Amino acid sequence: MFFGKSLCIATKHKKEQVLAPLFKGLGFNVCVAKNIDTDILGTFTGEVERIYTPQLTLKKKCELALQRTQTDFVLSSEGSFGPHPSIPFLYANEEHLLFYNTIDFTEIYARYIFTETNFNSQEIHSWEALIEFCKQVKFPQHAVILKSTHTKQIQLVKGITSYAQLKEAYQHLKHNSNVVIAETDMRAMHNPTRMHNIKQLAKKLILKIQSTCPQCNLMGFDIVDSISGLPCKNCLNPTPTVLKHIKKCKGCNFMQETLPSHNLSYQDPMYCDFCNP
Ligand SMILES: [Zn+2]
Ligand SMILES: [Zn+2]
Repeated sequence: MFFGKSLCIATKHKKEQVLAPLFKGLGFNVCVAKNIDTDILGTFTGEVERIYTPQLTLKKKCELALQRTQTDFVLSSEGSFGPHPSIPFLYANEEHLLFYNTIDFTEIYARYIFTETNFNSQEIHSWEALIEFCKQVKFPQHAVILKSTHTKQIQLVKGITSYAQLKEAYQHLKHNSNVVIAETDMRAMHNPTRMHNIKQLAKKLILKIQSTCPQCNLMGFDIVDSISGLPCKNCLNPTPTVLKHIKKCKGCNFMQETLPSHNLSYQDPMYCDFCNP
């Protein structure tokens, strides 16, 4: 399908390590965007505020790459971190990928919320507390950031990956401020857990790319809506569980119903609002 086509990966944080092999497997000639600074669209550490939605940021990253390299397709990635939207006291990593076709301007988007993340930050008052924090966040395989906000100017040391660097940065920042904040470095090349999540999402994106419309053959034939109401095994009333998905083609609007991956005909009464209110 893509044999001999060119694909540019819009990244400055080494995401090609996991993305390039997967897309080479589809037949693409893969390159990495040269000298693009995706940090101008926002950084995790807040020096540059994120002003666009993830989807618009993905598009802007593709445009940055295309200013320097002209390819048939562009792939961009974006992540965010914070409290899980539905599970209390748990952090989550939401990842987004955009596959952009520069020939017909179509795009395929994928996102997923992962609970696998070391995302964390903590106010540090002693070297021992810092060591304890670092152990929790899988340092030194995962990098950390130290910062102090003693003055209005935030002082930051990013990408710390050794105990020697950690000590030097800690002593330097502590000298200026009583409070030092330790954070996980979420940039992909410094965070193997995040890199793994990006790889998992890329596999989902590839499934979407390979799903083509039965009517017009356009790629990205995908679920646009889900209908709940799987019947309860006991009372046969509809439950909140998904009954079917609707796939729709962005080109010709062809629609098709598909069954959800749970493969159930009935739901356990435990999840029924009538049997178990
Ligand atoms: Zn179609
Ligand atoms: Zn019931």
